[in-house]
Amino acid sequence: MRRRGFLHAFMTFWSSVRVRLMLSYLVVMAIIMVIFGGSLYATQIIFNPATAESNLETQVYQEAQRLSTDYRRALSQHQAPGALSEKLSSGEIVLLLDTSGNAILDQRGTLPAISIQQLRDKVRQGQTLSDLTISQTQTQNQHWNWWHSATSDSYRVLITPVLDQNKRVAVLVVGLPKQTVMPLFFIWLFHGTMGLLAAAIGGYWLAGRALRPVKMITRMANEINATDLRRRLNLHLRDEFGELAATFDQMLGRLDAAFRRQTQFTADASHELRTPLTIIDLELNRALTQPHNCDEHRQILELVQSENVHMTNIVNSLLLLARADTGQLALQRQQVDLSDLALECVERLLPLARENDIILATGDLPELLVNGDPHYLTRMMLNLIENAIKYTHGSGQRVHVELTAESDKWGVLRVQDDGPGISEEHLPYLFNRFYRVDRARSHNPSPSSGPQKEVGGTGLGLSIVQWIAHAHGGEISVESQPGRGTLFEVRLPLTRSTVGAGLAPACREAAPYPGTRDHQR
Ligand code: ADP
Repeated sequence: MRRRGFLHAFMTFWSSVRVRLMLSYLVVMAIIMVIFGGSLYATQIIFNPATAESNLETQVYQEAQRLSTDYRRALSQHQAPGALSEKLSSGEIVLLLDTSGNAILDQRGTLPAISIQQLRDKVRQGQTLSDLTISQTQTQNQHWNWWHSATSDSYRVLITPVLDQNKRVAVLVVGLPKQTVMPLFFIWLFHGTMGLLAAAIGGYWLAGRALRPVKMITRMANEINATDLRRRLNLHLRDEFGELAATFDQMLGRLDAAFRRQTQFTADASHELRTPLTIIDLELNRALTQPHNCDEHRQILELVQSENVHMTNIVNSLLLLARADTGQLALQRQQVDLSDLALECVERLLPLARENDIILATGDLPELLVNGDPHYLTRMMLNLIENAIKYTHGSGQRVHVELTAESDKWGVLRVQDDGPGISEEHLPYLFNRFYRVDRARSHNPSPSSGPQKEVGGTGLGLSIVQWIAHAHGGEISVESQPGRGTLFEVRLPLTRSTVGAGLAPACREAAPYPGTRDHQR
């Protein structure tokens, strides 16, 4: 179990962006170093071998001269050459032979017997400057040879006589390894390792720093819950992370707004249902606890029924909007003539208009074909005309319905009244769910008003109208002036056949407004 936890932590560590960034730095750094080191090597060794060679020869000559002087002095003073303390450079070999080349007077450095023999031969042949190759198995000091290049066992050897007053007293052999690459390789290896280490540490730190905003976003996202959507990152960075944080903040803002709307909606819905429920409860209590005659009982029952109708309206409207929100409402589209629907709606609402002392008039109603659902389009028109009648009652006299075509593309339905109008501050919220300009006026539960007079009053009608307009690819707008009336306009896209056929002859019951055809009185 613990092993699996460790494995998981290990895998998380290695797959983290921070580690991957660090590894990327490392790879780039390693490539740079290999290229840099390689080019340096090439410059030093391949492209400039002559310089290296002549440097080595100069060194060998200088060494031979120094040692020859020391040995001459020692021999002339009958000292043992081996007793001399000489400081030799790394890898240097020295062999001092007698004049015949047989006896070894002194030997320094790593020289196997076979190599000594080779040097003797060279002495006998009278060679001066030559190369000597000591194979790796011959060398005893091999601990550093694993990394060494092929030239590391090759020596530049100088054979020179040791002269004392022009008399040959010994033969000196001095060899220096042709190892110019060794220190360069060492330096490169050391600095490369250090560089890579620095790159790993620096890269890890830099990546951590660069990714800090991501950590912050992650931490905050973990901390935020549904009740705390007001929190923001407020990173104010100008880079991509700043952009990400700003987008995240905007998303939080939208979520917050949606969440608030949802909460408000639930509260409004509960409130709207609680009012009729309270009224029903009170009325039923009254009926049960007090003695009433038949008429009074009837009145109570009518009120209960009216409240029930109101609740049913709310629940039905809510259900419709909920289905619309979740995309469960499919429109049964067909070719529909808006003028047919408008006439039908006007006829259906004539009794209501009559009852409210409103003149319901129609203007031009040309044939306008749209591809829509007649059921929902009718509902939209009924809602707008009903509202106009309902709110005009008492302060205005006239509701006017007309259709026009706009640039052969849009069919426009206009429902205008000369009612109380709506003041400007309410207009932006008019299509919000449960929004009412005047709550008391929208839902009048007085028993005297009777169930028929109660048309809507849920605050959901315009939300549904707006959804229907949008679902048909259209839009709705409202213009209103307090005290002068309100105009609702719905624009719906016309079908191609209408557009192709041009405008149908205007007005089936034609009479331009204000000389419209009145359907009332
Ligand atoms: P309601 O069920 O209350 O009528 P709606 O969503 O249909 O709900 O309308 C929202 C509010 O808009 C209404 O409460 C009313 O205050 C206002 N309103 C709608 N139509 C008109 C109109 N023609 N004249 C004045 N006010 C209107």
